Amino acid sequence: MSLTPSLFPELIQALIETIDAHAEEVTELDQAIGDGDHVFNLQRGLQALREHAGEIATLDWVAAWQKIGMTVMAAVGGASGSLYATLFIVLAKNAKDKLIDLAGFSDAFLQAVEAVKQRGKSDVGEKTMLDVLVPVAKALRELAAAGKPLAEILDSLSLVAAEGVEATRDMLATKGRASFLGERSKGHIDAGAKTAQLMIAAIAEVLKN
Ligand code: ADP
Ligand code: MG
Ligand code: MG
Repeated sequence: MSLTPSLFPELIQALIETIDAHAEEVTELDQAIGDGDHVFNLQRGLQALREHAGEIATLDWVAAWQKIGMTVMAAVGGASGSLYATLFIVLAKNAKDKLIDLAGFSDAFLQAVEAVKQRGKSDVGEKTMLDVLVPVAKALRELAAAGKPLAEILDSLSLVAAEGVEATRDMLATKGRASFLGERSKGHIDAGAKTAQLMIAAIAEVLKN
């Protein structure tokens, strides 16, 4: 199988399905320590991407990531929208003029996650999506550099993502709406970390098949 944007419609469908399937659970998480709109925000973004999926499928990855970032930026309000938009726009910028094999992608992805940190003025350990994205980006780079087979890399990333979500449970939120709760933010998984994990697991499943 070649990993080209022709996969994009299938990937988006898989993301929509996993977010729909976990909508209630994630909404409860965002209600507990946020404002409860996280699923709605993501669904808006994913629906906008589905509308453009046919066009995105015809692009190269750099153009596709740029288009994905701009589409998410326009469609989604909320912290998660601007952070995911940043991820894809910076991914496109860093991947530009590079040969995109898995090692090249992993470099560009790690830089894009760094840009999300800057945009959110946040880092790992603050109970956000970064507690999933950062360890996943680091693991991807290590495994790609070591030349591991794709299926093995994807399984490892799904595991790393699941550990990242679980780690947010006992963290004190210091960024985003959950930070308004202070100590009361402890004991709940972060909604944005959970959806990042769900989407990574869904992407891994599509790419494995
Ligand atoms: P909002 O908080 O504006 O309602 P969402 O509910 O869509 O937006 O997204 C909330 C999620 O965004 C949080 O669960 C967290 O994972 C992530 N998030 C919020 N603020 C930040 C930040 N400064 N840095 C990184 N991630 C953040
Ligand atoms: Mg919210
Ligand atoms: Mg909101």
